[in-house]
Amino acid sequence: MSITVDVPTPDLPQATSFPDTAGGTTPDGSQTADPASRPASDPAAFLTEAELDAQLVGDARRIRVLTGDRPTGPLHLGHYLGSLRNRVRLQDVGADIFVLVADYQVVTDRDSGAEIGGHALGLVADYLACGVDPARSTVFAHSAVPALNQLMLPLLSLISVAELERNPTTKAEAATSGRPAVSALMLTYPVHQAADILFCHADLVPVGRDQLPHLEVTRTVARRFNTRYRPVFTEPRALISDAPSVLGTDGTKMSKSRGNTIELRASPDETAAVIKSFKTDTDRRISYDPANRPEVSNLLLITALCRDEDPRAVAEQIGDGGAAMLKRHATEAVNEHLRPLRARRAEVAGERALLSGILRRGAERATVEAEATLERVREAMGMAY
Ligand code: ATP
Ligand code: MG
Repeated sequence: MSITVDVPTPDLPQATSFPDTAGGTTPDGSQTADPASRPASDPAAFLTEAELDAQLVGDARRIRVLTGDRPTGPLHLGHYLGSLRNRVRLQDVGADIFVLVADYQVVTDRDSGAEIGGHALGLVADYLACGVDPARSTVFAHSAVPALNQLMLPLLSLISVAELERNPTTKAEAATSGRPAVSALMLTYPVHQAADILFCHADLVPVGRDQLPHLEVTRTVARRFNTRYRPVFTEPRALISDAPSVLGTDGTKMSKSRGNTIELRASPDETAAVIKSFKTDTDRRISYDPANRPEVSNLLLITALCRDEDPRAVAEQIGDGGAAMLKRHATEAVNEHLRPLRARRAEVAGERALLSGILRRGAERATVEAEATLERVREAMGMAY
């Protein structure tokens, strides 16, 4: 099997401005990734799952993949359907996977790092539960890789404050945080994320739709660095899943920060209670219509992806059964799908030495990569004395 990732290099824009929305939609918009909604200025910015399938033609070992999560709480169904499933899928066809625990990014919108340690180990347990194999994939925390963080400095010089201030995802996250002022780290964290992706020359970044504006920052600074100095960086593409923005109980993006999630680690009863509290609508006839019935369509999509069916077929099975029957279907599908994953998680969750050993070994490998990239960057910038 091989995944061919041909990234055409678009012209360097005179003055880059981000699209007002991510791929023509808001971070909380409808659930499907429509290739037609790509920013016209940058048609190579992302790849859908269907396009990835079309490109799986042999051997994926050449492909580098990086993606990660903030250790701000337990992973949820949005992470799983939006990104984690694709990470494991790419790992299993032989791609080289880097999975990042983005611990410095916790303090973009939180005062205390008190819970970071527990959450970081919890993320590793979630990864193992989902099928990430540390023998084949590199799992690490970016705070443990100094050379990666140093890369942020030259990258910061390649983008303006105005460009960062226009980023719609940063704006949405700043609003969700409820804080009176946006910290400099919050404003610049898309550049830190660029360092996360560029240090290992990732080709593909499996992410939810909220990350598209950030990927655009990565692509922009990579392109500008390569033009200003010499080609060092790969311009990565986002891999957008069939569920690019899973909604939570309140109808907004399922997010750890919003307390609206179905946690992967939850018990079947907890899952049933959470799904019962999902916002729906009053029309008893269930139909898949993401634009007009986002909440109902979200539950249909969750059910369909857990059962490996089409959301329209699930809607037909429910017919006039109303929201209660839809929620029963969703609960059963989620609990059934997550059962083996939850069993694996229960086995490893208390194994502190195992979990931190994975992060330590991952940081060693990431450090070798980051130091090599930093050396090339310093050489390209004339700083090899
Ligand atoms: P926080 O509220 O702390 O920001 P989060 O739930 O948004 O947490 P992140 O750690 O920020 O999670 O996101 C990690 C990855 O999971 C990113 O690639 C993001 O796009 C993806 N992701 C997060 N939530 C969803 C969702 N609801 N649907 C699809 N993908 C998601
Ligand atoms: Mg987030």
